[in-house]
Amino acid sequence: MKTTHCPKCSGNKNLDCFSHIENGRCFLCSGTGVVTGAKAEKIVADRKAAIERVAGYLAQAKANPEWLGAWFDESSGRTNADVTRGFILSPRCPTDVRVRALAALASFGV
Ligand SMILES: [Zn+2]
Repeated sequence: MKTTHCPKCSGNKNLDCFSHIENGRCFLCSGTGVVTGAKAEKIVADRKAAIERVAGYLAQAKANPEWLGAWFDESSGRTNADVTRGFILSPRCPTDVRVRALAALASFGV
């Protein structure tokens, strides 16, 4: 059975911000610090997909830095840089990936 570190509580078993509810016990891992089975498989798959998506954006920017300034969607006024940053800052992007991804994005002057 697949097992992974709990991404919600970072393996701490509790979330201080929810200390007023069941002493902050993490509901994702049931206070164990690890996630198993189908939930673990989904977490690992989602993490892999998020990393691949960020890597794809950054590879695109590296190959062609002008890509970042191009419109992603002209009707919304968002550029590829906006979309990339938005994804990196979203809950779908793992927090440990976020810092490195933002630094990589900043290296392009964005
Ligand atoms: Zn947890």
